[in-house]
Amino acid sequence: MLPFETLGLRSEIVRAVTERGYSTPTPVQARAIPEILSGRDMLAGAQTGTGKTAGFTLPLLQRLAATVRQGKAPRALVLTPTRELALQVAESIRDYGRYLSLRNTVIFGGVSINPQIDSLSRGTDIIIATPGRLLDHCQQRTVDLSQIEILVLDEVDRMLDMGFINDIRKVIRLLPVKRQNLMFSATYSDDIRKLAHGVLKSPVEVEVAPRNTTIESVAQSVYLVPKETKRALLSHLIRTNDWPQVLVFTRTKHGANRLTKQLQDDSITAAAIHGNKSQSARVAALTGFKSGQVRALVATEVAARGLDIKELPYVVNFELPNVPEDYVHRIGRTGRAGATGEAISLVASDESGLLKDIERLIRKSIRRDALPEISSPPKNSSPSTDVDQSQLVRQHANQRDQARRPSSQKNASGHGDRRLQGNRRFARPGSR
Ligand code: AMP
Repeated sequence: MLPFETLGLRSEIVRAVTERGYSTPTPVQARAIPEILSGRDMLAGAQTGTGKTAGFTLPLLQRLAATVRQGKAPRALVLTPTRELALQVAESIRDYGRYLSLRNTVIFGGVSINPQIDSLSRGTDIIIATPGRLLDHCQQRTVDLSQIEILVLDEVDRMLDMGFINDIRKVIRLLPVKRQNLMFSATYSDDIRKLAHGVLKSPVEVEVAPRNTTIESVAQSVYLVPKETKRALLSHLIRTNDWPQVLVFTRTKHGANRLTKQLQDDSITAAAIHGNKSQSARVAALTGFKSGQVRALVATEVAARGLDIKELPYVVNFELPNVPEDYVHRIGRTGRAGATGEAISLVASDESGLLKDIERLIRKSIRRDALPEISSPPKNSSPSTDVDQSQLVRQHANQRDQARRPSSQKNASGHGDRRLQGNRRFARPGSR
């Protein structure tokens, strides 16, 4: 028997998962799937990169597929903090549920509400939503939450950080009392415990990595570097190590824009992803990055939340986050599902307090690397490194269609982002 079958999943789901290229369940999947299938509530401490999305979507699909929807009202609701995460969860649901006949609708703000209303009015089994727009639909009575059997709160810690607690409570008040509740969070605070206490009934607790410890497979290092040298150092690291793909975190949207421009001036293809960008520009930047067209994706915290970039080898903290837990989230972008990766932080003297807080949280000290001699970049004489976002938007539409083809038409691994995997190169220890 295949390992996924031993968890009690039906053949249509095992087939979809196998075609996706997964042979063995990750630890959170092995522990969560049988419990969710049995109908229990769950509090899971699992950060992004652990395979948590399949951990809840596979049993959710199976439970819904056991009965048929009566009428149009949805039977499962997944709440996520960001639209990117909502889209990714929806993609997983579509992917893993391709041999089942369940419908889903994605709901988030910043885009026209009408297509969402159309989709809801046709009848849907699963809603994946950010809280604000979902409440708009509730107010307009374009969604009926009275038939929800399963509620998933994904990345709850981030939803609370983003101030969604009241919206979450409002949504929960609209749900039937009898339902299954699943909560996923990378970190725990008193607020999360309080929310869990109010929402979950005798939950099984699943914790895959010790709380707030960073993923073992990620090599972490720090450069202590003057603020004004950071940009040259980053550009030097990308060029001399020949990094094919790097996700760079800045603290502000303005900083992300500025750094993107500077990298482009250094002949490195770069795109920014942050809250001031339109949804289509964000999706296009991400798609360009996944396809290998964009070498450096410069992101702010919130925009990067939920980015699912397979086997991303390098994450750079251009600035340390103000909240130490965010460091754990950020570096969770690499070393996903057992892959190895590197997280490098550029730390200026005024950030030493933040670095101490992070080391206290993760309970280990991060290796300090000596600054290399920085070579100057070639002058960008060609405009081709300036990634035209509207061009990316158009390309994204094509790539998306391609990504939706049955996996038999894709590459042998079943993944659509072959170039990213193919380009992957890891710096050997000490090669920097
Ligand atoms: P998540 O933690 O849900 O964001 O998933 C992290 C990454 O792991 C995603 O790219 C998934 O496609 C991948 N993944 C999930 N489950 C498995 C599995 N059983 N085997 C290999 N990769 C997986």
